[in-house]
Amino acid sequence: MKNDCLFCAIVAGEIPSTKVYEDDQCYAFRDINPQAPTHILVVPKEHIASVAQLNEENAALAGHCLAAAAKIAAQENLDGGYRIVSNCGADAGQTVFHLHFHILGGKRMDEKMA
Ligand code: 5GP
Ligand code: ZN
Repeated sequence: MKNDCLFCAIVAGEIPSTKVYEDDQCYAFRDINPQAPTHILVVPKEHIASVAQLNEENAALAGHCLAAAAKIAAQENLDGGYRIVSNCGADAGQTVFHLHFHILGGKRMDEKMA
């Protein structure tokens, strides 16, 4: 756990969140400021700052989060599809520097991604 990391504090239960899924390696909860009818964040329990910090040693954890996202999307009945987003760095709009995957669904997404 990294001091002063919001998502480490959420994973530790120090800051409340609306949990939708948890296993030994990842935790998923509803975004506080949803940008779609369903907006869930999937985070590894281990602190990794962003995709930019992934390497051969820890990349399996990101794969695990994506597999969890697929399970969560099915659980949330996002049968029509959904978007997975991971903002990496300030220019991409990353505001919390603990790796997370946004699951956005429940509406037709914009064709433009940027
Ligand atoms: P980013 O901009 O880094 O890709 O995404 C961070 C996300 O975390 C944002 O969508 C923001 O709404 C969400 N967020 C920020 N603080 C909190 C919080 O305290 N609780 C929850 N559930 N979500 C948060
Ligand atoms: Zn963290």
